[in-house]
Amino acid sequence: MATDDECFDYIVTGAGSAGCAVAARLSESGRYRVLLLEAGGRDTNPWIHIPMGFYKVYADPRVNWMFESEPEARLDNRTLYQPRGKVLGGTSSINGMVYMRGNAGDYDEWRQRGCDGWDYDSVLPYFRKAEDQQRGANEFHGVGGPLRVSDQPRRDELADRLVEAAIQAGLPPNHDFNGARQEGAGYFQSTTGHSRRWSTATAYLRPARNRANLVVRPNCHATRIVIENSRATGVNYLHGGTPRTARARAEVIVSGGVYGSPQLLQLSGIGPGELLQGLGIETILDLPAVGKHLQDHFFVRLAYRCTKPITMNELANSLPRRVMAMARYVLFRSGPLAANSVIAGAFARSDPRLERPDLQFNFTPWSYATRDHTGAVPHPFPGFSLSAVHLRPDARGTVHLKSPDPLAPPAIRFNFLETPYDLQALTAGMRLARTFTRQPALAPYVAEEIVPGPDINTDAEFAASIRRTASSNLHPVGTCRMGPNGDAVVDARLRVQGIGRLRVADAAIMPTVPAGNTNAPSIMIGEKAAAMILSDARAA
Ligand SMILES: Cc1cc2nc3c(=O)[nH]c(=O)nc-3n(C[C@H](O)[C@H](O)[C@H](O)COP(=O)(O)OP(=O)(O)OC[C@H]3O[C@@H](n4cnc5c(N)ncnc54)[C@H](O)[C@@H]3O)c2cc1C
Repeated sequence: MATDDECFDYIVTGAGSAGCAVAARLSESGRYRVLLLEAGGRDTNPWIHIPMGFYKVYADPRVNWMFESEPEARLDNRTLYQPRGKVLGGTSSINGMVYMRGNAGDYDEWRQRGCDGWDYDSVLPYFRKAEDQQRGANEFHGVGGPLRVSDQPRRDELADRLVEAAIQAGLPPNHDFNGARQEGAGYFQSTTGHSRRWSTATAYLRPARNRANLVVRPNCHATRIVIENSRATGVNYLHGGTPRTARARAEVIVSGGVYGSPQLLQLSGIGPGELLQGLGIETILDLPAVGKHLQDHFFVRLAYRCTKPITMNELANSLPRRVMAMARYVLFRSGPLAANSVIAGAFARSDPRLERPDLQFNFTPWSYATRDHTGAVPHPFPGFSLSAVHLRPDARGTVHLKSPDPLAPPAIRFNFLETPYDLQALTAGMRLARTFTRQPALAPYVAEEIVPGPDINTDAEFAASIRRTASSNLHPVGTCRMGPNGDAVVDARLRVQGIGRLRVADAAIMPTVPAGNTNAPSIMIGEKAAAMILSDARAA
């Protein structure tokens, strides 16, 4: 175990989607000694690795931070549950495994906002480098990378019908949402391999486990970055309650995620001066953007009672079926447990005048009565869900320390529904989802709409339903955003503005949320960060 003032070249705090990629790539050549600190434990929980086990780790405090937002004023003062992985692999060890990069135009927009080197043509090589695509390589996809990307292991009757219905409603078929075109309907690919979850711990750390120069330390919570003469020189951390320090000869890379990264910077005196002063933390750099610009997708779920007993609800509600499913998975790696839950869907525009899709539809072959920090409870009858996700909300929120205690959760505020567009777009999404369910392909499978229900028809009724049920789609970004000026935290090389030898590399640096799921983009950021760090080291 660590001794005080151990010395490394690089220290990475947080072994999540981005952090595992950063640490593995920095240690690859054998030239640098790298320490990877992770607050959570090892990924030994078997449910992590079973794709459908997603629901078992959704609210398990042994592997999950289980944050809760502050009450949201425009959502009837509801708090929103925020699961985040607290385990090797971070949130890639508990997420829904959908492999989605977003729209190429999202990254071009990052460059237009002053982030040179982050347009799609520039980031595509890092998506490809990370990838081991089951379908083989082409101009959009790579093979031989650490991250397995697979097709769904089986076709699903309801998913087939949903895709057909979306096409009947006017969307084009789409066989590859990460290829030439995003709009359309089809099956989603997943970050699984051999019907196992392919977290970044599996992808990046497992192949590197015999590297003597990569020290992976679970159960180690970074509490402060040591800063001397405006340069990061090390990290203070707690291991089992015991304070320790590790020194970094070259750099510290903060990869604690959208909540953990701004929290660690603020604890280290880098953040909004007034906030820090109020908490008795010495301000090293007054940087108001730390913890600002929180952005997330905003979604609402439509739930349907199904006319046929072909959904996952029947499985979830029957012990003998669950036992059979587990036996099938263990023996043959097949059956319902082998698939991740969001298996198909669509991308569309809430307004035909938009250039890019601003809506994503996620289909799951099950429906639930509740899903929050107590877990997910499926309906006691056959059901399926269709989520309408608004991909470009105007709303921006904050992540701020509530206490100087490094183990206390931060205050998370989304400020959803800040603008009329956010309400209009989600209302359009709900109407479109409902249109899908009324098409000839899907209508015979719909016994009744449970949520929002047949009484919701006018704009005012949709608005009230959204306020009552809509939530964060668990893709928060932006709290250490990248940009060219003082309202950003890091520059385009991910260096913290005003502090030397310190970078942030994870979803927190995204200037705006991409229009798709955020695991692959976070891994891309980890890959690109490592490449920039190594190239800067060579140039020094
Ligand atoms: C339930 C759920 C389902 C999702 N489904 C999908 C999906 O299907 N597809 C998709 O693309 N995206 C999905 N996402 C989102 C995606 O997984 C995340 O955006 C992505 O993993 C974020 O990566 P990251 O590196 O920024 O942070 P994380 O992966 O969260 O990594 C941060 C790591 O830092 C550690 N840490 C934090 N603070 C400290 C500290 N002080 N000291 C030491 N360690 C620390 C954390 O424990 C964690 O391991 C989902 C998210 C959730 C919550």
